[in-house]
Amino acid sequence: MKTIDDFNYKNAKVLVRADLNVPLDDLGQVADDTRIRRSLPTIEKILNDGGSVILMSHLGRPKGRDEKYSLKHILPVLEKLTGRTVRFAEDITGPQARRMAAELKPGEILLLENLRFDPREKKGDETFARELAELGDYYVNDAFGTAHRAHASTATIAKFFPGKKAAGYLLASEVKNIKKALEEGQPPVTAILGGAKVSSKLGVIENLLDKTDRLAIVGGMAYTFLKALGYPVGRSLVEEDLVEKAKEILDKAPEKGTVIILPSDFVIADRFAPDAETRIVPFDRIPDDWMGLDIGPETRQRIADIVKSSKTVIWNGPAGVFEWEPFAAGTMAIAKALAEATEGGTFTLAGGGDSVAALKKAGVEDRISYVSTGGGAMLEMLEGKELPGIKALEE
Ligand code: AMP
Repeated sequence: MKTIDDFNYKNAKVLVRADLNVPLDDLGQVADDTRIRRSLPTIEKILNDGGSVILMSHLGRPKGRDEKYSLKHILPVLEKLTGRTVRFAEDITGPQARRMAAELKPGEILLLENLRFDPREKKGDETFARELAELGDYYVNDAFGTAHRAHASTATIAKFFPGKKAAGYLLASEVKNIKKALEEGQPPVTAILGGAKVSSKLGVIENLLDKTDRLAIVGGMAYTFLKALGYPVGRSLVEEDLVEKAKEILDKAPEKGTVIILPSDFVIADRFAPDAETRIVPFDRIPDDWMGLDIGPETRQRIADIVKSSKTVIWNGPAGVFEWEPFAAGTMAIAKALAEATEGGTFTLAGGGDSVAALKKAGVEDRISYVSTGGGAMLEMLEGKELPGIKALEE
């Protein structure tokens, strides 16, 4: 895969697929500009070479054209962060866009309207991809967050740029860091998987059995595994149809040389509410009408010790309902343990919206080796899948 530094873009028009899918507040203003900031190095490199940038992205999940999801909303922030005037083409690949692209001069930026206003984007439509491709001379994909989608702007378009396509800095560093943990991780390699559902992470668990020495399963997922071992889980989250599968995974782990770590105590609640009554119990003492909503203090300590004695750590998904204070301690403890391990020389990789939010809340986001920006895309890489957006750059 070629990366952005393999070319010089002097006098070239470069189509950059970025991930500018930022959250907007009620007034339609950018609520968090992280994604725009992470796209800047790629934009700057092209402009500094003496090229121009045609920026493309999606925003939200609009059903057709919808002002609420217009990329116009990000213009002021984009202009401020790049320090340049940014032109805007409302018709994506229509006459206005074609004229503006044709008139674009070195050092200038043109932003196209939300690609998903055109239904052909998500279909990976070839005609739409060609229309986009005709606007520029090179294609650079920097949108790791959508690299697992085979959309027109993330995958199909690449075929129109033989020898003139590359990964942007963000996409390239995401791939490099995830591979570093997954394929080249120094042992012991530990993965911590949390979140609500086993079903959404089954492929990840199975692939990680081949890649890790220790696999901690926390969050809502833990109870399906506990049930598979025959313990009572009360009203905790359980995916009944996956209990057998969980059993299989637990049986298979020793052959794979992976130790599966399940919580040894829990914070339980009498109902699913932030002001529920809570207790701390050992893993085999969840009463019938209570539910586990976080890992307990003993498990927090165990996981922190395991993290600190690892050379490589991969973390995705919260250990409990961390959105509610009484059930946030487990997730916060993991965030802090990762930061401390990093300082001790461990390579730490974290990703997924909730884990990133927890790292921010714990104030340790800058103390992790690599924080991935792509939730779904990171999970698919952890699953061992080939991402369409990356494959298209390699072909
Ligand atoms: P996911 O999208 O699968 O990564 O799940 C994230 C969600 O899992 C978060 O919103 C958490 O509140 C939730 N979660 C974590 N632990 C539990 C639990 N023990 N019971 C119910 N929900 C949980």
